[in-house]
Amino acid sequence: MAVTVLERDSAVGGMGKTITVGPYAVDYGPHTFHVRETAESRAVIEAIKPFFGEDPLVLTRGTRVLLRGKEYVYPLEMLQVLTGVSPLLAARIMFDYLRATLKSAFAPPTKEHSFEEWGVRNLGRTLYDLCFGIYSARVWGLPTSQISSKQAQRVAKLNLKNIILRTFGIRADPATYFTKYMYPRRGISLLYESMADAIRARDNCVLLNAAAVRLERASEGITRVVFRQDGREQTIECDGVVSTLPLPALVSMMQPPLPASVSAHAARLRYRSLKLIYIALKRPRLTDYHWVYLLDEQFTVNRMSEQKNVSADMIPSDRTMLCIELSCWRDDPIWCAADEDVYRIALKDLLQMGYGVAEDEVEDYYVTAIPTAYPVYELNFEDHLIPVLAGVHSVPNLLTLGRHGLFLNNSMDDNVLLGMKVADHIADNGLVSAAWLEQMLAFMNLRFQGK
Ligand SMILES: Cc1cc2nc3c(=O)[nH]c(=O)nc-3n(C[C@H](O)[C@H](O)[C@H](O)COP(=O)(O)OP(=O)(O)OC[C@H]3O[C@@H](n4cnc5c(N)ncnc54)[C@H](O)[C@@H]3O)c2cc1C
Repeated sequence: MAVTVLERDSAVGGMGKTITVGPYAVDYGPHTFHVRETAESRAVIEAIKPFFGEDPLVLTRGTRVLLRGKEYVYPLEMLQVLTGVSPLLAARIMFDYLRATLKSAFAPPTKEHSFEEWGVRNLGRTLYDLCFGIYSARVWGLPTSQISSKQAQRVAKLNLKNIILRTFGIRADPATYFTKYMYPRRGISLLYESMADAIRARDNCVLLNAAAVRLERASEGITRVVFRQDGREQTIECDGVVSTLPLPALVSMMQPPLPASVSAHAARLRYRSLKLIYIALKRPRLTDYHWVYLLDEQFTVNRMSEQKNVSADMIPSDRTMLCIELSCWRDDPIWCAADEDVYRIALKDLLQMGYGVAEDEVEDYYVTAIPTAYPVYELNFEDHLIPVLAGVHSVPNLLTLGRHGLFLNNSMDDNVLLGMKVADHIADNGLVSAAWLEQMLAFMNLRFQGK
């Protein structure tokens, strides 16, 4: 079966893309490929290894959280937190945790709706607020009482029992606590460029600067895809479509349209957007970490990463480049603000992180944005997601895939796994939407259970 891939961008990779900013090569926030100690992950790594280029890096997860001016290892080591904070705060953490545990034991919740309820029940109020509550409200732009407990996904195993087990070196769930990454030395784009080359080498097409605009359907399903390239519309006749578009965009492209109720539900699925602020410093290195999460209330931005610590081959030896992430809604003024204003917000936070950066060390900055970075799990989002997935997959030969096709905050390894699954599904059954939807929902359920 011949395949045509339509990519709106001028390069492949989507959010897993490397860009060049002057002498610096940087990802959209370093995109490392997670290696988990599961059979599924081993199969993915085996299949994907050839696309990583010569001598790929295998890295140990280097994440820290900045909490009350101190760095902590992430995933959290409980003893480190308890001995790092003031004795009074440590006592409150333990007291609240014990109270929450007893409450859960004697009055188990019949249903858990919000992320806040999940967090307070599993961690106790104090630890939850410190480590998740304040940070999550900033990342998602909503009070955590309005965020679904499904957001817990793979952090769901982060209850105190697991944290304590980890502290004593007892292995926690390998699906959640991956500790290794793979990474191509010159940036994550190489992985996807190699895949695109392999697709082309088998007489398929990968078209860049080619934006899908309309999916035309008849009773048997999608028959034609209309896309725009070089300012003009072109058409591809097809046997079926696998879409990684955001679901609301996909629904809006259907011709004739899907029932109005599907569009109404699709309009209720929201995405959190992201500004990425790159700051080049006149020093060889700032931290030893890949990412630093900023948990405290005083910060406006979410996290900072240092590309050089993922791969030193991408940054000049006497300089470093930070990537600072700021989330927002697309109707927030910040989304349309001038780059300099956005940079100033990031710089202000950088100066108060405690790493001793001075403003005159900044050599350059660059700001870019991702409009649909994170699907947002508002309370009861499933009431909208399920009718949209069902509506879209009622078209017999339309299958959705990827972070946006599932509305799932997943990582690249998940998406490669799903790509392998969809290929097997098509090889075995043809382009059959209904059976694919079942598989996909089963996969999503596992992820929502933190597996
Ligand atoms: C800041 C950040 C850091 C992350 N870090 C990691 C990490 O370290 N490791 C990890 O595993 N995951 C990471 N992720 C998650 C990872 O980016 C996603 O899991 C992955 O990119 C999703 O792939 P996708 O193909 O489903 O979607 P995307 O990467 O969003 O790709 C969708 C593609 O569709 C194209 N498109 C959109 N509209 C059209 C149209 N009309 N016509 C044609 N093409 C169109 C877009 O241009 C894009 O290329 C991170 C995400 C973010 C936001």
